[in-house]
Amino acid sequence: MANKRDYYEVLGVEKTASDEEIKKAYRRLAKKYHPDANPDNKQEAEAKFKEVNEAYENLSDPQKRKMYDQFGFDGPQGPFGGQGPFGQGGYYSYTSSGFDGFSDFGDLGDIFSSFFGGGARTSSSRRNNGPRKGADLNLNLEISFEEAFLGVEKNITITRNETCTVCHGSGAKPGTSVTKCTVCNGTGQVRQVQNTILGQMQTTRTCSNCHGTGEVIKEPCENCRGKGTVRKQPKIKVKIPAGIDNDQTVVLRNEGDPGEKGGPNGDLYITVRVKKHSIFTRKGLNVFCNIPITITQASLGAELEIPMVDGSKQKYRIPEATQTGEKFTIKNKGFKSLNSSVVGDFVFTVSVQTPKRLTSEQRELLEKLARTMNEQPAIKKKSFWG
Ligand SMILES: [Zn+2]
Ligand SMILES: [Zn+2]
Repeated sequence: MANKRDYYEVLGVEKTASDEEIKKAYRRLAKKYHPDANPDNKQEAEAKFKEVNEAYENLSDPQKRKMYDQFGFDGPQGPFGGQGPFGQGGYYSYTSSGFDGFSDFGDLGDIFSSFFGGGARTSSSRRNNGPRKGADLNLNLEISFEEAFLGVEKNITITRNETCTVCHGSGAKPGTSVTKCTVCNGTGQVRQVQNTILGQMQTTRTCSNCHGTGEVIKEPCENCRGKGTVRKQPKIKVKIPAGIDNDQTVVLRNEGDPGEKGGPNGDLYITVRVKKHSIFTRKGLNVFCNIPITITQASLGAELEIPMVDGSKQKYRIPEATQTGEKFTIKNKGFKSLNSSVVGDFVFTVSVQTPKRLTSEQRELLEKLARTMNEQPAIKKKSFWG
């Protein structure tokens, strides 16, 4: 996929483009590159057409667009990438079904009906009646700051439809059969011919006998009442990759509702909510933390023990004459990037604590110190050398 073009680039829109702008760009390009509109260089046009379709498919769907913005084409690499228990490539990556004929254009069907005439109708009836992808499911998952940092595997319970194991999805009572609807002859659509002043007009509507399925169940399965699916609450294992940020989404392919008529299952989208931490905050890949120090540590310098997000401690030497508000950076101890090998930094800000209770010995020492420096420090003017 090295030479795959950025979807926004394919459609010639900005990353911030609105849905309307994306749709407009798509309509224009789909018309331009439609193979039937380019009889002289059909192959090249078809390749472009596919590219445009794939870009539109991914950018027109808010969830897919978010995933694309988050992970790019391939999703993150590394130990959590790709081949989890969910099958190859099945893990928070998304693929494009790409060019699959002219069956899936939704409300853009009008473009294609202008190319295909009645053909577009045939394809839309095929869409109603043929394999259909199951519904996608969405849920939120709350994890701790540390879990987001290290990555985590969670067992979650979801509610979804599953194929009925008694009738294997047919909806018919075992031993009975599903028969072809005789009203529509199994097409799910009924044609009507009307005479108008313009001549005969043919219209199609969904068959009311079979509700567009093309099949009639004589005796419904008792387990699923003829639906072919039952509500289940399976436990699912979810791997959250290290470095995930609040509001980012992990997708588990095929873990949504079952597809119909051999269509693929829907996907499961899990939006991660990262709980606030009591001492750490995150900005981009960097971790921020406030570290209190004593007046003597600030004055004389000290070796501090800084708590890291992974639970370890990191020794760090601050110099003498450290001031409150000074920032120190420990390189590469921040969050991992999901889509590159970049690692953020750990940045801590020190604040000098004035002691609240003094022992008599400490008070004496401080008074002694005070006698040697009992002038108020000059008020700093802001000058151009700081
Ligand atoms: Zn059943
Ligand atoms: Zn029918």
